[in-house]
This record gives sequence, C-alpha cells and structure tokens, in this order.
Amino acid sequence: MDLLDTPGLRPIVNGVGPATRLGGLPLADEVWDAMRAAFRHPVRLDELQAAAGARLSALLEIPACYVTSGAAAALHLATTIALTQGDEAAIDRLPVVVGARSTVVIQKAHRDPYDRAVEQAGARLLEIGYPASSHPGELERVLDESVAAVLFRPGRSGDLLSLAETAAIAHAHGIPVIVDGALHVPPVDRLRRFLADGADLIAVSGGKGFRGPQASGLLCGTADWVSLAGVHQQDMDERPTTWSPAVPRTSPTPPRHGPSRPMKVGREQLVGLVAAVERYLRDPGADELPGIAELDRAEETLGAAGLAVERLRDDALDVPMLRIRVEGAATAPTPSHARWRHVPSRSCSVSPRHGMAS
Ligand SMILES: *Cc1c(COP(=O)(O)O)cnc(C)c1O
Repeated sequence: MDLLDTPGLRPIVNGVGPATRLGGLPLADEVWDAMRAAFRHPVRLDELQAAAGARLSALLEIPACYVTSGAAAALHLATTIALTQGDEAAIDRLPVVVGARSTVVIQKAHRDPYDRAVEQAGARLLEIGYPASSHPGELERVLDESVAAVLFRPGRSGDLLSLAETAAIAHAHGIPVIVDGALHVPPVDRLRRFLADGADLIAVSGGKGFRGPQASGLLCGTADWVSLAGVHQQDMDERPTTWSPAVPRTSPTPPRHGPSRPMKVGREQLVGLVAAVERYLRDPGADELPGIAELDRAEETLGAAGLAVERLRDDALDVPMLRIRVEGAATAPTPSHARWRHVPSRSCSVSPRHGMAS
C-alpha cells in the first residue's frame, strides 16, 4: 500500500507554499532524474561536495558554496565556523565553546524561531536595539573579542541597521557577518548583493524558491569562510587514511564526526539541489506563473463580487500580493476563523508563493 494511503493520513491542499511542515513543494521531473542518476555508482561524499560547490558557485556567480540539509543547517554550520575559525581543538569540543568567541550579536528586530540553529551550535545570542529600531552605536558598543559573528536577517521593517552598515562596523572589529537569506534567495541577484554589502556567510534554503529537495540548502559566501565548512560536517566512521587532507591531522582526540554531522546530506540532496538550481536559472520566473494566474482570477472574481481588491507587491519576499478588503461582516463573505467573526472591516493579503500572508 502506498504510504500516503494510510488510514488517518489526510490529504491537504497546500495554500502556504514551500512549508516544511506541509512537506514542501513537488520536485520537477528533471530533478528526480538527476537524483536517480546520482546512484549510478558510489562516490566519495567529500569529492561530490566539492564538485557540487564548484558547480553551484559558477552557476550563481558567487565565490563559494557548500550544500547543507537546509538553510537552518547552514546557519548552524556558519555559527560553528565563526565560533572556531578553523581551530581544530575548538571544533572538536563543540557545542561546548572553549575559545574566547562565544556570542552571536543580532538586532532585536531580526530575532526569529530559526535562531535555534545558532544557539544549538553552542553560541549565545546577544540582542541589540529595540523591536523596531537599532542604532550603529548599539552594535559598536558590544563588539569585542567575545563576539563570534553578527547575524543579519533581511526584510525586517523598522529603523534598522542595513547589511552594509552592519558589515562595515563588524569588519572593523574583524568579526564576520552571517546572513539568513532563507526567504530572500532566489532571486539570485540578492545573493550577490548580500555579498557586495559585506556578508561573509549566507544561509539559503534549497527547498523554497529553488524548488530543490526539501531537506537541502546552501551555505554561500567568501571562499575563505566557506572552505572551513567541510571539516565541520565530516563523517569519521572510516579510517583516517580514507579521508582527504581537509581532516585535521593534529586532532586532539581520535578522529570523530564534525559538530554539524547530524545535519548530513546525501547524494540525493547534493545532486538534486544542483539540478534544481540549473532548472531555476533557465527561467527564473516560471514557477510563479500559475500562482500569478490564480491571483488574476481571484482579483477579477472578487472585484466583480463588489469587494475592494488591490494588487500589491511584497518587496522583501519578491512576490505579488492581492489585498482583499471585506467591509461589514454581516453582508460580506467572512473568513471562517472564529477570531475574525465580529470584525467589521478586515483586510487580508494573498500571494502566489506564500498563500495567506496576513
Ligand atoms: C525557512 C527558513 C529557514 C530554514 O530553511 P530550511 O531550508 O527549511 O532549513 C531559516 N530561516 C528563515 C528566515 C526561514 O524562513
């Protein structure tokens, strides 16, 4: 029996988009074909990682890439890299932080449930600023030798420090900047803009806009920082002699797994993500077209029914939106959510990629 036919397992209509809890989005046939072809013969995973990283950085026109099991895993990996900066003894002790660098600074307005990935790596988060504002002086004041990195989340509203301002201040103290680009890449030019603005390491989701395997992602960034990634995810089950020179030879304990090893990727993620990015780049807007056609139909139908509808664009997410204003709960269609029942006037926004946004 097909597992999806298990009694009690309910089919759903995904009106949200690439949400992990709803199983993500379907993969294109060419991505499946590539994943199947990845099992033609065994390969060393470190060599396949290197090949995937080289191919992806050429495709995306950025200095370096490392495939992870998601943007959250990339945040974890970026944090372990920033905490240890290649110090083998320190890597070996994670998530117990033994070096001086132990905190990751973040603007309060940038906090997010995915901060968990940073804390899990062993770092302590240090907030600066207020829910809708932060000041350069607030960042300056906390940057000392205890700070491993500054974490930046784009697309938040308020009087906040920009990425360029954040990076200029952090770099003046020799501190790298990690960008959580999970929701904001693609478009790919954003990725290059993050780098131009001073990002050192950028976490990108493979299962969102790129439509790669749900458990795939990318750690992108400058070659110096990304080159430290491999050893953090090293799987040391086999004898050291079977490992590449990337493995620390002076490791203080017998060879063992890297701290990000629980977030491993397999051939299917590596090859699948490369195929998905290649497919995406051939026609970057194509996946949005069915959703945009649905928005057009909704705009027409709801407008004809006398509702005030307005076309907007969410610049942060780079998606078109439809705002629907429902006047007077007694006469107009009412959202079924009980909380909304007695609200006389209410607007909600719909976008093709993210469904009901607010
Ligand atoms: C989705 C998301 C992540 C995690 O991405 P995965 O690829 O699912 O691990 C991280 N940060 C933000 C802001 C996200 O929206």
